[in-house]
Amino acid sequence: MATKRTGPRGGTKRATGRKTSTRAKSAEKRATSSGSVTKTTRAGRTATTNGARKTGSKTASRTRARASTAPLAEYNAKRDFTRTAEPTGKIPKDRGKALHFVIQKHAASHLHYDFRLELDGVMKSWAVPKGPSLDPTVRRLAMEVEDHPISYNTFEGTIPQGEYGGGTVMLWDRGTYEADDDGGVESLRRGYEKGELRFVLHGKRLQGGFVLARLRRPGRPQWLLIKRRDDHADADRDIAAEATTSVVSRRTMEQIAAGRRVWHSNR
Ligand code: MN
Repeated sequence: MATKRTGPRGGTKRATGRKTSTRAKSAEKRATSSGSVTKTTRAGRTATTNGARKTGSKTASRTRARASTAPLAEYNAKRDFTRTAEPTGKIPKDRGKALHFVIQKHAASHLHYDFRLELDGVMKSWAVPKGPSLDPTVRRLAMEVEDHPISYNTFEGTIPQGEYGGGTVMLWDRGTYEADDDGGVESLRRGYEKGELRFVLHGKRLQGGFVLARLRRPGRPQWLLIKRRDDHADADRDIAAEATTSVVSRRTMEQIAAGRRVWHSNR
């Protein structure tokens, strides 16, 4: 295992300077009372690694707040940026543009689809083992993972074996998204906090309404990703099986794995 970075990237300074949610504020308080943010981050990572074993313990029940300790602290702590081509976690200035989403097919130790929604300067992220479905009767398990930087939205390539998330990453879909009511980002924030996030995707492969609904289970938050009933719902199609190439480079997973590391920088 490579040395993990627990450094100050995306650290406390930024966290205190940003508009933070109630949850983020309480997480910061906890971080302070426990001595340091890094310490809390480590605890979060421990809980992640041993997720199943720690389920039900007090540590596990607190892991929900972990991601808010300092923006992208967990993301940065898990990665050695001298070894992976993934971007470092930084929060860009809010320029009031449309919110983006991205879905990355990720052949790590277990194949999954990383579903990411931009919110407050980061990509809220879920690992969806079976990928999205267009069938409104299908509920896809979506395990919440650490927030990712927005710059991750252009990442396609390979993460070296032995590194965190080692394996091939394909840009499977991307586009913009919005709240399904007229509530804008406030509505999305509320939905995320409440555990019932309703939104409309404007992607190349996925369009229309979806809901992410958080399950009441101990440990790391698990959600269900469900297509809502609208013109884009289609119970007869298996979109994950149909679409097997990159929405950006048109490459298959095999071609990405065989090719050179591809990096589309944010211009
Ligand atoms: Mn992943």
